[in-house]
Amino acid sequence: MTRRPPPLLSGGDRKAYAKELAKAEAMTVIFEMRSAELRQQGERLIREADDLLCQSWNERRWSKPAAPIDPSPYITQALNGGYPMLEIECSRCHTARTVDLAELKRPATTFVHDLAGRLVCTKCQKAGKRPAAALKQLAHRRRTIDPT
Ligand SMILES: [Zn+2]
Repeated sequence: MTRRPPPLLSGGDRKAYAKELAKAEAMTVIFEMRSAELRQQGERLIREADDLLCQSWNERRWSKPAAPIDPSPYITQALNGGYPMLEIECSRCHTARTVDLAELKRPATTFVHDLAGRLVCTKCQKAGKRPAAALKQLAHRRRTIDPT
């Protein structure tokens, strides 16, 4: 529904009023488009920041394996940054495993390092042990299984 000009406006004022209305309508579209554009840029920047956070954590895991595993990214940051997989190794029997972070029944705001005590090796669990997992690195995809 278009807004009607208030009564008692002279011809010139009515014209100016109509012009302002048209301008306001155009601005709603421009503001909306600009908002969507900035939101898209912001999401891209956050994805990039999450990617860098995961890379940083991976580099620390690789260069200083004995260093503390925290701080680490949130599960949601790893997923957003393009690292849906976590490579782990049992600290007792050294069995390697890749965990799909999206499939874990954990809140998205769980830190990756908090998973160490929760990702128990099934082999050791059958033997009645609950060794913590050694967190190796975040990965883009599942580790390929060597057929040999
Ligand atoms: Zn084990």
